Amino acid sequence: MSVLDRLGRPLGSLRLSVTDRCNMRCRYCMPEDDYVWLPRASLLTFEEMARLTGGFTGLGVRKVRLTGGEPLLRHDLPTLVELLRRDRRIEDLAITTNGLLLARQAAELRAAGLDRVTVSLDTLRAERALEFARTARHGDILAGIETARDAGLPVKLNTVVIRGFNDDELVPLLEHARAVGAELRYIEYMDVGGATRWSMEDVVPQREILERLAARFGPIEPVFEPESRAPAERFRLSDGTTFGVIASTTRPFCRDCDRSRLTADGTWYLCLYAEAGVDLRAPLRAGADDAALAELVRATWSERADRGAEQRAAAPERGVLHQIGALRADPRREMHTRGG
Ligand code: SAM
Ligand code: SF4
Ligand code: SF4
Repeated sequence: MSVLDRLGRPLGSLRLSVTDRCNMRCRYCMPEDDYVWLPRASLLTFEEMARLTGGFTGLGVRKVRLTGGEPLLRHDLPTLVELLRRDRRIEDLAITTNGLLLARQAAELRAAGLDRVTVSLDTLRAERALEFARTARHGDILAGIETARDAGLPVKLNTVVIRGFNDDELVPLLEHARAVGAELRYIEYMDVGGATRWSMEDVVPQREILERLAARFGPIEPVFEPESRAPAERFRLSDGTTFGVIASTTRPFCRDCDRSRLTADGTWYLCLYAEAGVDLRAPLRAGADDAALAELVRATWSERADRGAEQRAAAPERGVLHQIGALRADPRREMHTRGG
């Protein structure tokens, strides 16, 4: 059974946040000194996550991405991967990680059935990682990428591009990705949740990213993918190297969006920008059966009309989405809680 929302979009992809904790402090995501965390007792167990996920795959979800916070901080993550892998409807089981703990866990995750991994890599310079993400272990990220590849996991790299921070690394990052056999995706800086220092002036638009790459690599052609609902538009250099750009800020793609997000405490968000989510933990823990949970998801999705990024793009004066007080009042507004 599949279900369409009010704009005709199917329920296709689920981002499952397994923890709101993180071992980095990227400036565009977690710039503050302290945070309000989800209460431990509210965190879903792996069995609860697998059960809820089963409700989604029964309604058409075929892609599941584990995220966070930093998903590799969740103890014994391969066990969750194994549990999810038992669901034959999942065609693509991926993870988005900052890579710090990847070298240690890649082989085990692969053996448990993970299909692929996306590593966030914003800079090739250790001193920048220290300054902008407060991690002194930049080398572990680079090692994690290569270990994952060697373990047989296809790797993508995500780079959030911020003017004056890492926009001088557009070319070296693509060359690095090519050298390690990973596909790079440049992400426009978004005004989501924790980005309390966001400003449009710091966004490097897709158009400019492509111009700067063309100046170095020559002509760039788009890769034609008519069936794709993926957020990245893909491009090819003349030597065959492919890369993507996720232009959520300047060219939002809500009309094709089949994604939703489940927080580690079981709150389901139908849009990255949604103000409210649906509590799936309460009915789950109150003993709702699979059919009742699936019906809740189906009925909710069929009413969905969210197009958060398009509405933000249309706003006349675009500034920070949430001030710090609003984030503290509801930590699920944070990108690290909602799951990027
Ligand atoms: N900790 C993991 C990581 O960094 O890959 C997974 C969670 S993180 C919230 C998921 C993705 O969201 C990362 O690729 C990160 O770069 C992206 N992200 C976070 N804040 C963002 C922002 N303000 N603009 C664009 N992307 C952002
Ligand atoms: Fe950075 Fe990911 Fe942690 Fe956010 S959740 S601070 S993007 S590593
Ligand atoms: Fe989907 Fe909302 Fe993102 Fe638009 S803003 S692409 S509707 S999650």
